[in-house]
Amino acid sequence: MVSRVIPVEPFDLVIFGGTGDLARRKILPALFRRFCAGQMPHEARIIGAARSRHGADEYKATVRAAIVEFVGGNEAQSDALEGFVDRIDYVTVDARGTDGWAELAGKMRDGCVRAFYFSVAPALFGDLAERIHHHGIATEQSRIVVEKPFGNDLATARALNDTLAEHFDEGQIYRIDHYLGKETVQNLMAIRFGNMLFEPLWNSQYVDHIQITVAETVGVGGRGEYYDKAGAMRDMMQNHLMQLLCLIAMEPPAKFDPDAVRDEKLKVIRALDAVEPHHIVRGQYQALDGEHPGYREAAGNPRSSTESYIALKAHISNWRWAGTPFYLRTGKRLVARSSVISVVFKDAPHSIFGAEAGRHANVLSIRLQPNEGITLQVTIKEPGPGGMRLVDVPLDMTFAEALGPEGGDPPDAYERLIMDVIRGNQTLFMRGDEVEAAWAWADPMIAGWTARGEVPKPYESGSVGPDHAEQLLRRDGRAWRGIKP
Ligand code: NAD
Repeated sequence: MVSRVIPVEPFDLVIFGGTGDLARRKILPALFRRFCAGQMPHEARIIGAARSRHGADEYKATVRAAIVEFVGGNEAQSDALEGFVDRIDYVTVDARGTDGWAELAGKMRDGCVRAFYFSVAPALFGDLAERIHHHGIATEQSRIVVEKPFGNDLATARALNDTLAEHFDEGQIYRIDHYLGKETVQNLMAIRFGNMLFEPLWNSQYVDHIQITVAETVGVGGRGEYYDKAGAMRDMMQNHLMQLLCLIAMEPPAKFDPDAVRDEKLKVIRALDAVEPHHIVRGQYQALDGEHPGYREAAGNPRSSTESYIALKAHISNWRWAGTPFYLRTGKRLVARSSVISVVFKDAPHSIFGAEAGRHANVLSIRLQPNEGITLQVTIKEPGPGGMRLVDVPLDMTFAEALGPEGGDPPDAYERLIMDVIRGNQTLFMRGDEVEAAWAWADPMIAGWTARGEVPKPYESGSVGPDHAEQLLRRDGRAWRGIKP
């Protein structure tokens, strides 16, 4: 089976913050890969726009270096790189001043898609939106792409939505959550809604519980100052894990269209119960043998009570999920880098093989990183003579063989999402009301532990997190699944 690449329309993509870390590590490499795949038409142009005083040639050199560093391999040495760099331009622009705006306006072409990627600090989002509008740089079909974090709580998210809404319609605003661009996340929707097999079982009658784990091995690194004001709840739980929860739990939308999907996701968030304090575990990683600093040292705040780990038990109060717990956890400096959603089905109601056969539950595991893929744990007879012994084996549903070598590696999340922006497809982007609803769920938890003066539980670097998180499931007669690379 050959994967089809359908070129997008000609476009002008302006990357505000085009010299920054995100642009160099993710956005430009993603565009380069789509260029190599033949998806970018010849007329496409990428305009870096940032405060640094560069000429276009200097910026082209920055782009070349970023591709060599972050894409590497043969692709980055080939003629393709020069072909890509030919499409690059640069304007020095001050988001808070007047510099560069007239020049940028002069560069925009009629008759092609205009997209503006806000890869700058969130404090500048409003300034950019206002100036793009004021200088007449956007048309009614133009799009803006907004990076995380989208607000710090409900009030700031609402204020940001209001500011953007002064200059752009909701249909023009693409709030990016790169977890939604992952191949497997979309495959989750295909598996749920494209097959008869799973959906009838997808409810509290057959599902015992669901686990969502996003584990990182890295610490806060150079982001300590920012992270200490955010913590795992704001940085990961309220956005990435919440989006995954929505896709797992939502009702089938009538159509695979942006508002139909996002309406269903919003209903899930609004059906979430308030999480009780004893169903939340917050942790902070400790130093490891003097090799890695502990969280407080890395954050530069010896008295910090910000969490680098959070686990919680959530409930969705609707007909489908009443009584099924959703256990969510995410943390830094854990034993392995692993993002997995596990749907744990109930045991068979009666074992014809007797008690000695043990308990065997089917588990559907959707692995987002590393090694994206889907497996279904099924119970079979252990091969060989000597009676009926049962064993659990994974049924690999990644279908790499069926899709063939021509299928190639799936595009990186940023590749897919940027091309969706150009195509004007908002399905995999968060709508303003979704973001606000997610903050409305998270805010009372944050306010609660702040008011109680709670200090996160220490956990060892390289472990699975604090013991209290293990107890959260043990109390319910369940256990977390292992965190495996
Ligand atoms: P960065 O500090 O590396 O780059 C910031 C960019 O903004 C630079 O190009 C700089 O020249 C430009 N800039 C700063 N002030 C400006 C002004 N007044 N006018 C015009 N340009 C100005 O930041 P980054 O890490 O690339 O992050 C950019 C955005 O992406 C932030 O909102 C961040 O939260 C978000 N984000 C970053 C990452 C990441 O991995 N770096 C991941 C997720 C989200």
